[in-house]
Formats: sequence, structure tokens, C-alpha cells
Amino acid sequence: MIERIDSFKNDMKAWRHDLHRHPELAFEERRTADFVAERLESFGIATDRGLAGTGVVGTLKAGTSKRVLGLRADMDALPILEANKFSHRSVHDGRMHACGHDGHTAMLLGAAKYLAETKPFDGTVHFIFQPAEESAGGARIMIEQGLFERFPVDAVYGLHNMPGLPVGQFAMRVGPIMASFDSFDIVVKGTGTHAALPQLGSDQIVAAAAIVGALQTVVSRVLDPTEPALVSITRIKGGDSYNVIPDEVLLSGCARCFSDDIQDKMKKAIVRIAKEVAAANGATAEVRFIEHYPPTVSTKEGVAASSRAAADVVGAHNVNIEAKALLTAEDFGYMLKERPGSYVLMGNGPGDGGCLLHNPRYDFNDEALTIGAKYWARLVERELGT
Ligand SMILES: [Zn+2]
Ligand SMILES: [Zn+2]
Repeated sequence: MIERIDSFKNDMKAWRHDLHRHPELAFEERRTADFVAERLESFGIATDRGLAGTGVVGTLKAGTSKRVLGLRADMDALPILEANKFSHRSVHDGRMHACGHDGHTAMLLGAAKYLAETKPFDGTVHFIFQPAEESAGGARIMIEQGLFERFPVDAVYGLHNMPGLPVGQFAMRVGPIMASFDSFDIVVKGTGTHAALPQLGSDQIVAAAAIVGALQTVVSRVLDPTEPALVSITRIKGGDSYNVIPDEVLLSGCARCFSDDIQDKMKKAIVRIAKEVAAANGATAEVRFIEHYPPTVSTKEGVAASSRAAADVVGAHNVNIEAKALLTAEDFGYMLKERPGSYVLMGNGPGDGGCLLHNPRYDFNDEALTIGAKYWARLVERELGT
């Protein structure tokens, strides 16, 4: 039956190209949300608007079962100037669908159309179209505004395209598949002085350099060596001449890991090391630590369900259920903290020519549209089977 989705390929492609041409940044997805809601309604699916501002939830019921699934797609684009020249290139310079959320939205719409037309299930499906996946935490805000109270689900599923993984392949794993993501700013402060008279003040450059070095011990000494984690310093700003030791130096960076417990330990260690190493150098450190995303953790049952559905579409030999976890992050982690389920990666084909996530030459692969839509449809058919 799901072969019927092949006949939607041109629709999905047209939707995807339309969305690609009109990318919108986090919480500004008004046109996109209208686009999604109009299509869902045209399939006869009831829609609810406004969670996290631009979120859209479509609800489709069939039969009498109380079982409920949530399927999630993200809708936001990135602040990138698109380098592609094709006809569906972004019409908004400086905004681009460089992460494939246009494809994710089109695939979930394709699955919704199929499920609404054929109703091959018994239960309820909530199609969750979320804003602001890219660093602004649209999923968290939808949850805080009552997503799962208003639309309770037994399990929730997410999907992301993956350049470098061939089209027609899926990758997933039980446990964490993506890392947590926290960022921090460390402002090292003291009494700047003449570079030739360091004894009259404190040297914030030396203190900052010592902090950068000492932060490497968070992963190597503070944490259990068998636990993967990462601390990267990504910005150093301070001073503007050859002979002045500045009052202030700014360090920024990020911390990533795969469990809430390690996330908490890293935060405490970064704050402690920054303050104490600054003090050891006669300076002080103010630390602003921003917790962004939790790790994205799939349950055993969720991965079992996803792997069965994916295998139905592409064959079991094309489904890797022991994928390597990635240190990138995903705000779907918030949804998986609330409900069981899974997050899967779907092949987008070669990353040649810059077709990598967040690259100005990226484009979602249209050949993957029917595969993703069939995966969603099959997941519903299997999990809410009649
Ligand atoms: Zn992204
Ligand atoms: Zn993305």
C-alpha cells in the first residue's frame, strides 16, 4: 500500500522546493506554518496553531484505539547566504534551508496525506511541526506550553537527513544518538597595566591562557575516562595593542556529552576551574553558562519500532541499528526526555561539493523524499496496526 506514496513524489518535491525558496529563521516560520496548516487541512487533518508561536500540530484519528503516536518535523532555516544557483535557491539572501528541514517538513506532509487518504491504522497520530530547532529550542517551548498535555502521545519519533549516508539507508541506536549542548562565556577580569610593568597589575591574558589549558582537564581528569565528552574553546577576545595588558579577556566555548549527569559535572567543573585558575593568576572570572539541549536518547522499544518500519521500506540490510553517536545536538532531545521513542538518521547521499549540513552549498536530496514519507507511514501502520 505504501507504494502509493511514490505517486506523491512530485507533490513533495514541489512543496520542498517552495519551502526551500522561502526559508524562515527560528520563531519566524509564519509562511511555513501557514503552508503546513493549509496542506494538512486540505488532507482533512485538524490543525492546532500557536504552540511556541509558529508550531503546528495536525491530528488524525482512525478507528477506536486509544493508542497515540507523535511524529515530529522541524521547519526552521539558518542565517546562511545560499551559494547554490538552482531554480529553488532561497529568495531571501542570508537565509537558507541548509539543514534539510524543508525536506523533513515535506516528508511528514507526504506521510500525512497518505495516512489521511488510506487510514491504514487504528488510533491517533499527531503530526508535530516545530519551530526553531536550530539552537533556539522550539521543542522545549512547545513542551513548556503544554504540547504533551494537549496532545498526549505514547511515543514520539524524530528523523534527520544525513549527508554522507547513502540514500536508502537508515542509522539509529539505542541510547544517546546526539549529544547535549551547553555554551559558556568566561570573562577574565583584573587590573590591566603597562606591558613592561606587569608587577603593577594582573595579567588577564596569562590567566585566560591558563584557563584554556586547564579546561582540557575537564574531559581528561574530572570525568570518568570511559564517558565520551567534549569541551571546545571557540573564541578568545582581549587586548588591542602591543604594550598594554588588558583589564578583560573573553573566552567562549561549548561543552557536549551524552548524559544529564555528565552534563551537570561538566558545568560545575568549568565554573570551578575558570574561577580558581583566574584567582591563581591574581584575576577573577565571571562565568555565564547557558544550558541549551539535553542529549537525544532513544529507547529500546523506540529503536525496535523504527528499525522495523525502516526495514520494511529499504530492507533490513540498509538499517544500521548500531550507529555511532554524534556530538552534534538536537532539540528533539527535549521530546525524548518527556516520552519514549526514537530519533533516526536517514541517508541524504554524498556530501560532495559542500552538500553537508549547514554548508552554503547544501541541498536536501529529493530522492529521499518518498523514503522518509514511507518510513513515517510504515511506522504508523506497524505501531498502530489494525
Ligand atoms: Zn541544523
Ligand atoms: Zn537540522
